[in-house]
Amino acid sequence: MTVSAKEIEDFYYFARKVEEFHGHICVGIATGTKSALAAMRKLGFNPYEKKNKDLIVYVETARCMTDAVQGVTGCTLGKRSLKYIDYGRFAATFIKLSTGEAYRVTTTKDFDKNLTIDEVLKLVSETPDDEMLKIQKVEVDIPENDLPGPPKDKAECSVCGERVMDGRAVFKDGKAYCKSCLYGAYYKVKD
Ligand SMILES: [Zn+2]
Ligand SMILES: [Zn+2]
Repeated sequence: MTVSAKEIEDFYYFARKVEEFHGHICVGIATGTKSALAAMRKLGFNPYEKKNKDLIVYVETARCMTDAVQGVTGCTLGKRSLKYIDYGRFAATFIKLSTGEAYRVTTTKDFDKNLTIDEVLKLVSETPDDEMLKIQKVEVDIPENDLPGPPKDKAECSVCGERVMDGRAVFKDGKAYCKSCLYGAYYKVKD
């Protein structure tokens, strides 16, 4: 398997585009760009088309790779097309909503620390997908409340009075609670 000139061109185009968004170019951006492009090709998406409304991505890390996935696919948290699962693994799953077809992609390659980033980019661009990526065909059950579109479930917390969207309210003894009021928040209110 060899890498076509078009695939190399696509890789550089998106790696540079992501560099702007992410703030620097690094190994995570290189492998993330490679992973996202490979998945898009398998699912038949054109990465140059900016409205991939049929695509949902689950990312498993809040590190560089995720910015590459976002930059290549155009999927974002706010559009509900990007989901963050806090596994701490450099992997992402790409799902075509209309067919349910899905691929989980992670990288299997370690890079020599002495390589410059230009050498990494060249290496990644010229390495066939199957020699540096693990691509698994998977199935993902996306909860209805996680899909894009208007919110289906809204509630008001009986303690703080704030609105809780998308089925995230918890009901106890007939009352609605936001998770922070019921289980404790990640923040502490000062005075
Ligand atoms: Zn980075
Ligand atoms: Zn509350």
